[in-house]
Amino acid sequence: MSETIDPRAPQRVRHDTRMRLLDVVSVTDITPLMRRIRLTGDLEGFASVGHADHIKVFIFPEGVAPHIVPIGERGAEFAEGQRPEMRDYTPRYWSVAEGWIDLDFVLHGDGPASGWAAQAAVGQTLLIAGPRGSLVVPPAYDWYLLAGDETALPALGRRIEELPAGSKIVAVIEVDSAAEEQSFETAANLSLTYVYRDGRPAGTTSLILDTIKSLSFPAGDAYAYIAGESSMSKAVKAHLIETRSFNPEYIKAAGYWLLGEADAKEPH
Ligand SMILES: Cc1cc2nc3c(=O)[nH]c(=O)nc-3n(C[C@H](O)[C@H](O)[C@H](O)COP(=O)(O)OP(=O)(O)OC[C@H]3O[C@@H](n4cnc5c(N)ncnc54)[C@H](O)[C@@H]3O)c2cc1C
Repeated sequence: MSETIDPRAPQRVRHDTRMRLLDVVSVTDITPLMRRIRLTGDLEGFASVGHADHIKVFIFPEGVAPHIVPIGERGAEFAEGQRPEMRDYTPRYWSVAEGWIDLDFVLHGDGPASGWAAQAAVGQTLLIAGPRGSLVVPPAYDWYLLAGDETALPALGRRIEELPAGSKIVAVIEVDSAAEEQSFETAANLSLTYVYRDGRPAGTTSLILDTIKSLSFPAGDAYAYIAGESSMSKAVKAHLIETRSFNPEYIKAAGYWLLGEADAKEPH
């Protein structure tokens, strides 16, 4: 008996993982709390076909210059005392032919990656690796729900920009204030609501969930992509399944970070 293949099912694509030691060539504050860092170098073989892909950035201990090491069976083989912290970031824009990639860092004030971005300057180097894989969601749904905080702006922005004309998108994005809003060029039919924390710490409000609860959704089947603080992501997913009858197969809820915990991320 042949299995029925769902034409809307997300597809996983694997890539060769390579480390790349790249040079910082520009540092631009696109909003007060979002810093775009352009890196150049050898991007040969770089591929990022999913809007929610991530690369690893490696933040080395003070005094240790960023460097490439072999990747063995148990991962990257850094020498004792030279082991870097690793964090996930979304490739926002890039050109393999021209050899550059843009990463957008939230300057949240705590942690090695945010700290590195806060002091980044032209001439420094950054080691990155990946993406190891991509999740490709076909543009085959009646509409798309996108939700997240500012850490998800790169992924949500990519999705908003890549969906073709005629796609319907409902997006809810939490930022600190109107100064943090980004606007997107898109052929899709976009209904975007920004919600503001107004000085309250990130990860401490229920603004995204409350806004989603208050929305009337378009008719038909949607694919939902939710990303940001882990508890928020989990709560929105639960609401979509329990109250809005979403198909759990058509939801990707990612915990990009967890309030009060370093280096924490989880899929829900
Ligand atoms: C797939 C994926 C893609 C991501 N893409 C991006 C991206 O493109 N840009 C981006 O900025 N982030 C992105 N993130 C989130 C980023 O990896 C985390 O915010 C990470 O914790 C930052 O590392 P850090 O070293 O700055 O802080 P950590 O050392 O991990 O954490 C230190 C402290 O800061 C808190 N914290 C972490 N992040 C935030 C935050 N945003 N606001 C307030 N407090 C925080 C933690 O709870 C902890 O208490 C992504 C995460 C994932 C999983």
